Amino acid sequence: MTTTTNPTQTQIMDFDFSRFTKLIQPDGRGPCPGCGSEIDFFLSGGRRIGECTPCRTEETARLKIEKRREVCLAAWHDVTPMTFLREIEPMRISASIRPALNLDGTSGVGFSGSSGGGKTRVAYALLRKAAEQGLKPYSVSASEYRLAAANRHHSDNAIRNESTSILRNSRNCQALLIDDIGKGASTAVGDEALYDLLNERRDNEMLTFWTTNGSGEWLKRRLGPDMGPAILRRMVDLVTTSEGKRQVFVCEPDGKEGHE
Ligand SMILES: [Zn+2]
Repeated sequence: MTTTTNPTQTQIMDFDFSRFTKLIQPDGRGPCPGCGSEIDFFLSGGRRIGECTPCRTEETARLKIEKRREVCLAAWHDVTPMTFLREIEPMRISASIRPALNLDGTSGVGFSGSSGGGKTRVAYALLRKAAEQGLKPYSVSASEYRLAAANRHHSDNAIRNESTSILRNSRNCQALLIDDIGKGASTAVGDEALYDLLNERRDNEMLTFWTTNGSGEWLKRRLGPDMGPAILRRMVDLVTTSEGKRQVFVCEPDGKEGHE
């Protein structure tokens, strides 16, 4: 053995690179094709590979978002009536509410007025847009919610669990569609539960869409002097944008064959 005095050289000689370098060899530095930052390149199996941490992190984030979107779209399929799963045909939607189809589904929207114009159909289309943006969707009709509130302490396990799940999903989902507010018999427990739901979602600024067949005055009459104005106030708040724009579409009968 020669007695070299260069410690650095000795170190390299002692380290057995041979197996490793056959597979991957350094190939200098250069700009990353993705983000342009200066990175290390390697040769592996005849391919030149760049090792860029920011781009890898970005790719991981992109895949995460993509996965999230898939989960939310699957959830949308689960909560959407079969006939509403098909692509929407704008010409079959009442002209008075058709502009709502141009909204992006990231802010609350309300639909009122006559049935048969496609209010619920459009509301589900907006719920889908929310899901496409990674917001977990859920839908419930006001009477379903009312019934769940009444049955949340039911002695039958299955009914109790189903009711609890409806109440929880309605409260926690990131995008909620409440269909047909004001329809069905008004009950103290049901109306109060609906008020609590709207109130909580409003206070937490949670995305909410709703439909109702009547006007504000009709709703007030149906829900009584206590709950009526309070519920209506929250319905309006939920569909008022941060710029103060009230997004309520009133469906006018115009002879279109709707899907409701
Ligand atoms: Zn990069």
